[in-house]
Amino acid sequence: MKTYFLIGNPNTGKSTLFNALTGMNQKIANYPGVTVEKKEGFLLHGREKIKLIDLPGTYSLIPGSIDEEIAVTSLSTEDPSHGVICIADATNLQQNLFLTTQIIDAGLPVILIINMIDEAEKQNLTINRDLLSQELGIPIFFTSAQKKHGISTVKNFLTTDELKAPKPLLPRFGVAPRITSALNEIATLLSQEIGPSAQQAHALRILSRDDELADYKLPLRSRLIAKRTALQQQLSHEGVLWNGCDSNVRHQWIDGICRKTCAQPKTLHHRWQDKIDDVATHKWWGPTIFIAIMGILFQALFRWSEYPMAAIEAMLSWMSQNATAILPPGPIASLIADGAIPGVGAVFLFIPQIAFLFFMISLLEDTGYMSRAAFVMDRFMGKFGLPGKAFIPLISSFACAIPGIMATRTIESRRDRIVTMMIAPLMSCSARLPVYTLLIAACIPAITFGGFIGLQGLIMWGLYTLGIVSAITVAFILKRTLLSTPSLPSFIEFPPYRLPQLSLVLKKTYERVKLFIINAGTIIFALSIILWFLTTYPRGDGIESSFAGYLGKIIEPLIAPLGFDWKIGVGLIASFAAREVFVSTMAIIYKLGDAGTSDSLMQALKHDAAFTPMVAISLLVFYVLACQCMSTVAVVKRETNTWRWPIFMVGYMTSLAYIAAFVVYQGGRMFGW
Ligand code: GDP
Repeated sequence: MKTYFLIGNPNTGKSTLFNALTGMNQKIANYPGVTVEKKEGFLLHGREKIKLIDLPGTYSLIPGSIDEEIAVTSLSTEDPSHGVICIADATNLQQNLFLTTQIIDAGLPVILIINMIDEAEKQNLTINRDLLSQELGIPIFFTSAQKKHGISTVKNFLTTDELKAPKPLLPRFGVAPRITSALNEIATLLSQEIGPSAQQAHALRILSRDDELADYKLPLRSRLIAKRTALQQQLSHEGVLWNGCDSNVRHQWIDGICRKTCAQPKTLHHRWQDKIDDVATHKWWGPTIFIAIMGILFQALFRWSEYPMAAIEAMLSWMSQNATAILPPGPIASLIADGAIPGVGAVFLFIPQIAFLFFMISLLEDTGYMSRAAFVMDRFMGKFGLPGKAFIPLISSFACAIPGIMATRTIESRRDRIVTMMIAPLMSCSARLPVYTLLIAACIPAITFGGFIGLQGLIMWGLYTLGIVSAITVAFILKRTLLSTPSLPSFIEFPPYRLPQLSLVLKKTYERVKLFIINAGTIIFALSIILWFLTTYPRGDGIESSFAGYLGKIIEPLIAPLGFDWKIGVGLIASFAAREVFVSTMAIIYKLGDAGTSDSLMQALKHDAAFTPMVAISLLVFYVLACQCMSTVAVVKRETNTWRWPIFMVGYMTSLAYIAAFVVYQGGRMFGW
């Protein structure tokens, strides 16, 4: 049976076409990470049966984001020899042809389906199919997958004809001679794996990259990396630009072809799109609009989610009380009421916030604004060595680092992606808020300066700022040391503005929330049970004689220089699983029983002489900077596929937190505060 791969840029209607071809009811979701699962289906036409494999949306064959890596690796590890069906958006052909030309140059049999023809017609856009087909050297079909137009012609062709490998386009690009000779050297290494017609194109892709070439097998991979590094250094030395040379030559050639084959009188629709872009990407208006939108996003995040969060909290406390009331007293009741319910609660409590966040992000993505925002931020973030696309992960991390780290998948350069993951947990997430609020309310006097600037509010602002400044500094250092890269020209594609479809946005939000629950939920739940065990056993009088109490006493000498006693030590140990646990642990330590009574906990802290304002500030600084979230660590492990980076993250953040808290506390003491 023939197997064809379906490949294309995100949002070109690939899923819709896949459904139309296979008739299988597939879910349509285009979040990087959700479509990562491989979709397979069968095309049935008369007696013929063809297998179709739907690859994740990708902009190019240079694997940047994780989705692209999966698409590219599938192409190189599975057998695409039958052929590839490339899909492009008719209204955005110039950008879409990039991938098509790469596939052609990879020596794969291919056809091109130009979808969204209905949209193109609406915009008065005409494409000379015969001429384009001749230039690219492949068959081309027009479809409107949503309206099921042109599908049967495609089915007919796929079931009756064989796809053929076209002639490579690369020789027509006019690559500089110095680059060509470098390509020949790389191509020699590839000669055992890849046919002669595609060697040059593979070599060009390799030369343009800065990653680990994961799509090549060892030992070839290490030879290629060594060769590439040597050539890149040599070329840089000679002043020859190799950064993004694949993109440059290809884009130039495609520009020419599009001028020849596509025509579009500037329509009103186009003109208003351009007008909006002029404002949205303007030097001053761009950032202003961006800040305003983010302001609304944050309002939504913290204000609107207050009510559902309060409701969930009430429900959990009701469940806990009922569990204690219904179940016979003993370890099982305690496990459920003090371990399992608060554990699950820690995850569920944040769902309203995370859902709001994902909803707003999906909405912004589907309107097309997100890439304009990335463009606006690129200028600013570039100063710290980060790409513009890093801002969404970082903004998301103010709610929770886990969706933030998951959102780094859209960043092309692997190294930039890791830098973003490493600093994401420094953004003050919602889980820190209960700790901040408790300590500030209990230990910082409510004085005001000049009548309107409150000290408590000032400290809260300072904590958020400390996180942001530390993140920027760490990014700056990492980009100059462990994760340095030559700055690649970043291509930010501008999709046309579209009215988002609410059902699609809701579907995406649901998929993302589901992923969050699976990711964070399982880990936090397991850890809560362990924590419950440590604070409950061995049974004696209270937490002081429990395992957690012992541990607190053991680490007391280590944390004494920061101003912390054993009780805070227990809180710290507990909150290495998840920060918000600090509050409930403190409640247990101060023998207040129910964690819900935070007012009485505040009073208890106020009356404990050990909790001076200086200790509180030192502790707050520690909470800003320390990596106290096992779920984040687990997600980084999964996303980087190694233990190296999560360990590094815990290591550097804990050291930073310790040193900063030490400096704050000892410094404060020196000044006699
Ligand atoms: P994918 O990300 O490439 O899988 O794209 P989807 O299949 O999810 O489609 C993205 C959006 O484009 C959806 O809202 C589809 O309904 C819409 N769409 C798909 N094909 C067409 C088409 O031919 N014409 C128009 N106007 N919209 C389409």
